[in-house]
Amino acid sequence: MAFPNNIQNKKLRSIAEKVHSDAPVTKEDALCMLKTDDILDLGAIANHIRTRLHGNIAYYGVNMNLNYTNICELRCPLCAYSCDENDENAFLLSFDDIEKRIRSAVSMGIDEVHIVGGLHPKLTLGYFEKMIRLIKGIKPDMHIVAFTAVEYDYFAKINNVSLEEVFRRLMDAGVEALPGGGAEIFSGHIRDIIAPKKISGTKWLSVMRTAHKMGLKTNATMLYNHIEEPEDIVDHLSRIRDLQDETAGFKTFVPLQFHGENTKIDIKRFTTGYDDIRIYATSRIFLYNVPHIKALWMYIGDKMAQVLLRFGVDDIGATYHNEKVVHAAGAQTPDFGSESFLRRLIQRAQLMPERTTASYRIVSGHPKEAAI
Ligand code: SF4
Repeated sequence: MAFPNNIQNKKLRSIAEKVHSDAPVTKEDALCMLKTDDILDLGAIANHIRTRLHGNIAYYGVNMNLNYTNICELRCPLCAYSCDENDENAFLLSFDDIEKRIRSAVSMGIDEVHIVGGLHPKLTLGYFEKMIRLIKGIKPDMHIVAFTAVEYDYFAKINNVSLEEVFRRLMDAGVEALPGGGAEIFSGHIRDIIAPKKISGTKWLSVMRTAHKMGLKTNATMLYNHIEEPEDIVDHLSRIRDLQDETAGFKTFVPLQFHGENTKIDIKRFTTGYDDIRIYATSRIFLYNVPHIKALWMYIGDKMAQVLLRFGVDDIGATYHNEKVVHAAGAQTPDFGSESFLRRLIQRAQLMPERTTASYRIVSGHPKEAAI
């Protein structure tokens, strides 16, 4: 496809030239992109890369969220979801509950289950193995995307086993990929405020390195719109890019707009549409080595997710039957989107919807893996 050659902004033109010659853009370039007001020029570069990678296809999934418990030892200030064990709202799903939820979602035709929960001190690795096997028993070809790097690190600690053993046992049970949660923002001075007891950014990356070495593909997230500065975003993107150069294990990068309701974080400023566009487009341009950029419509809103499809995004997320975490923090979107709703969003952006799993195993009658 023709490269956009009518970029007026001088700095963005030099970034476009680097992209055109396959040279990585620098951290200074990323900072400039995060601060530019020329979002149409920025979008032209991001959309060029997105089209080069994925043509006119945009991806979506048909899945359910399984949040097995909200009891969590850490009680991070950024979290509106977690509870102490004795709180009125505390819950831990029984295997009967899990079976009912999975059977109901299977009857609605899901391909994938996305499992995350709090750090519950009484749940052994055996509980999680049994949970995964139960789900596979109901639908053997269910794609299971389970547990954040924070949960894996915790499972290893409380079961007194190595991280490799945790991965091995859960992969044997049926886990195929990891969601990218818990990354938040890597900068220590920000993390100390928003999630002081959570594993460090360096540890999060090291857990992901181990997952990648064991053959698991993962997502990576970044939480923005709280107290971070553009420099913190650049640091985060840069550390993801460095690990990806080493392992090639990240399938997707997912910026997550922070929702502060019911949390202990005073948001410094609220993002505007321009801010969101800058974050997603910069991510697409900077992370040359990560195949997919996902905008979860449930976090950012369906209309903005649709617009972002022209600013570097190629995946708008999934149906998410029964999402709990972002809605506890005040997201105003519905907690479920139908497949026809997601397809319509994509089609009305003049793109072709492709139903897929988080590992980009195409479901809608196309036997091939997506281009990357
Ligand atoms: S963000 Fe995760 S680790 Fe932190 S309190 Fe909430 S559930 Fe627990």
